[in-house]
Amino acid sequence: MKIHEYQAKEILREFGVATPCGIACFSIDQAVAAASKLGGSVWVVKAQIHAGGRGKGGGVKVARSLDEVRQLATAILGMTLVTHQTGAHGQVVRRLLIEQGADIKKELYIGMVVDRSNQRVCLMASSEGGMDIEQVAASMPGKIHKVLIDPLAGLTDQDADDIARKIGVAEPAVTEARILLQNLYQAFDSTDATLVEINPLILTADNHVLALDAKMNFDDNALFRHPEIAALRDLDEEDPSEIEASKHDLSYISLDGNIGCLVNGAGLAMATMDIIKLYGGSPANFLDVGGGATAEKVAEAFKLMLRNPKLQAILVNIFGGIMKCDVIAEGVVAAAREVQLSVPLVVRLEGTNVDLGKKILAESGLPIISASNMADAAEKAVTAARGI
Ligand code: ADP
Ligand code: MG
Repeated sequence: MKIHEYQAKEILREFGVATPCGIACFSIDQAVAAASKLGGSVWVVKAQIHAGGRGKGGGVKVARSLDEVRQLATAILGMTLVTHQTGAHGQVVRRLLIEQGADIKKELYIGMVVDRSNQRVCLMASSEGGMDIEQVAASMPGKIHKVLIDPLAGLTDQDADDIARKIGVAEPAVTEARILLQNLYQAFDSTDATLVEINPLILTADNHVLALDAKMNFDDNALFRHPEIAALRDLDEEDPSEIEASKHDLSYISLDGNIGCLVNGAGLAMATMDIIKLYGGSPANFLDVGGGATAEKVAEAFKLMLRNPKLQAILVNIFGGIMKCDVIAEGVVAAAREVQLSVPLVVRLEGTNVDLGKKILAESGLPIISASNMADAAEKAVTAARGI
C-alpha cells in the first residue's frame, strides 16, 4: 500500500525523523490559512499524489507571499499532474501540502528496501539526491552506497556514521544524520514498510539534516497489524478495477493490452503474459484467482476483465492441482453465461479431472475456443484478439 508524502512525514516525525513543518490542505483557503499559520516568508506548495517526479511535472512550487501561495494552490489543486511515474494520463491533484521553505545547501538520497536475495533491509544512500535515482544507478553506480542491516543489531552507529560521511554529510552534522538514519530504520521496521525513500534528504546551511520528501510503501500482508496505516489508504489514487478486485480477494493489475488473462497462481499468470507477448499479443491485465477459486470468484474475475473497453479476447489458463478442472470449467461456463460474454474466450485446462473439464466446456454450447497447451492457447488468443 502506498501513502501520500504528508502522511509519510507524519509517521516519520513520530519516530523522530526531522522534516520541515507542513500542513495538509484540501482547498485553496485552507492552503493560505496553513501558510499564515506556519509563518515565515517562504513556503512550498506541494501536490500530493502517489507518484514521484512532481517537481519536474510542475507540482512543487515555491511561494514568497501569501498571495503567491493562493495563486499556486489555485493552479495546482485540481490540475492533472503528469510525471514519469503517472504515465501520460496523469493524476488529478486533490490534496496539497503547504510546507515551510527549507534552506537547502545540498540534496542527498536515502532509500530503504527489503532486499529479498540478502534477506535484509538494504539501506541505500547517495550524494546525488534530488535527481532520478534510477539514472544515478545506471550512469554512476559507484555513487550509491549500500548497507545490509542486521535485523538483530539494527543500523549500527558505525554503519550510520560511515554512510553519512560517504555521501558528504559535513562533520558537524554527522551525529544528527546518524540519529536520523537510525530513526528512519526504526520507522521502516516498526511499520512493516517495504520501501522508504527520502529524496532529497537535505543539508541546511546551518548544518542540520532534514527529510524534504518522503515516500513509504507498506506490506499489504502486514496491514492487519497496523489499522492506523490501513486507514491512510486513498482510494482516489488507485485503479478502480484494482479496488474492486481487492474486495473479492483477487490479485489484479490493469495493463495496457487487449487480451484479458484469468490464471490460477501468480507464476503461471506471469508466464501466461510472457507467452502472449511471445506470440505478438499484449495482455490487458495480470489476474491470479488463487489456488482455491470458487465459481463465484471466477465470475467476479470475468466481470472485472470485461469492464475494460480495450478488451478483445480472454485467455483462461488453469492448472488444476488443488483446484479441479471440472470445478473451474463449471465456473467458466456459469460466468460466461452470467456476464454475456462479448469477446472470444480461449480456455486451456490441464491437471486433475482435465477430461471432465474439457467435456463440460464442449457440451456447454458456448463458443469457447479450447486449447491443448499454453503455446496453442496464446496463439489462439492473439489471433482471436486480432479478429475483432
Ligand atoms: P518530487 O520528488 O515528487 O519531485 P520533492 O518533494 O522531492 O518532489 O520536491 C522536488 C524538489 O523541490 C526538491 O528536490 C527540492 O529541491 C524542492 N523542495 C521540496 N520541498 C521543499 C521545501 N520544503 N523547501 C524547499 N525546497 C523544497
Ligand atoms: Mg523527491
